[in-house]
Amino acid sequence: MRLGIDLGGTKIEIAALDDSGTLVVRERANTPQTGYDDTIRAMRDLVVAAEKKLGATGTLGVAIPGTISSKTGFVKNANSTRLIGHPLDKDLGAALNRTVRVANDANCFALSEATDGAAKGADVVFGIIAGTGVGGGVCIGGRSIAGAHLIAGEWGHNPLPGAREDEIPGPECYCGRRGCIEAWCSGPALERQYLAASGRNLSARDIADSAERGSETACTIMDAFYDRFARAIASVVNILDPDVIVIGGGLSNIDALYRELPPRVEHYAFTPEGQTRIVKNLHGDSSGVRGAAWLWPRSP
Ligand SMILES: [Zn+2]
Repeated sequence: MRLGIDLGGTKIEIAALDDSGTLVVRERANTPQTGYDDTIRAMRDLVVAAEKKLGATGTLGVAIPGTISSKTGFVKNANSTRLIGHPLDKDLGAALNRTVRVANDANCFALSEATDGAAKGADVVFGIIAGTGVGGGVCIGGRSIAGAHLIAGEWGHNPLPGAREDEIPGPECYCGRRGCIEAWCSGPALERQYLAASGRNLSARDIADSAERGSETACTIMDAFYDRFARAIASVVNILDPDVIVIGGGLSNIDALYRELPPRVEHYAFTPEGQTRIVKNLHGDSSGVRGAAWLWPRSP
């Protein structure tokens, strides 16, 4: 049995997958807001309860909003600051008496979709999470590629490629730079662009719907959005040339993305010989737990 935990800022989710990838147990608990030790205890309790229910033990992987530093062994880059500076894999492993694998949630998303999701069977997969932020993860041959400094796939903080005069220096990003892809292409960024143009507050999804119905302002905003997103993706295609790009996160529900992005990406990429496949995720909100479980892959 494979157990996966998706550790979020408000919820902890656990799932157990059997060898075929079928989800056999799934539970949720609130993430303790009291401290790191309580978070470790909450995860331990979920594992113990799940294994009692299953009548079996399993391997354990955890998806976190950050990574474990290869240098220090401590969590870094997590937006859940309670985790930063702790050896989460070691502490949870000690509490459960087993080796625990921990990976960034975007990497887990890519791994989940590459293993048995929308990119199943593809060799090179780039997973994009586009929602409140813009993240990504790389899978090659069914294996998650974390990178030497564990930042592989973090394209959201590259500068927007091919920035035009009116796109320089670009919006401020929380990382301290300006004009990051995330500052242009996240859901909140799209909403800000629409608000500035129309004076109206609409959700990203509603802006896209409004454009599909032919609203002029929404069309202008979405057109610029697709163009920027495609420039950003083309820079990934030039390095990785993935077989499939899978999109997850809130913006993945904009159906027009899958029609609008491929021809634009083809236009911006180097010597294109056909379009890159860009598809919607299959596992939705389950990709965190599923990818965490698949950190222990099937034996080849
Ligand atoms: Zn940034």
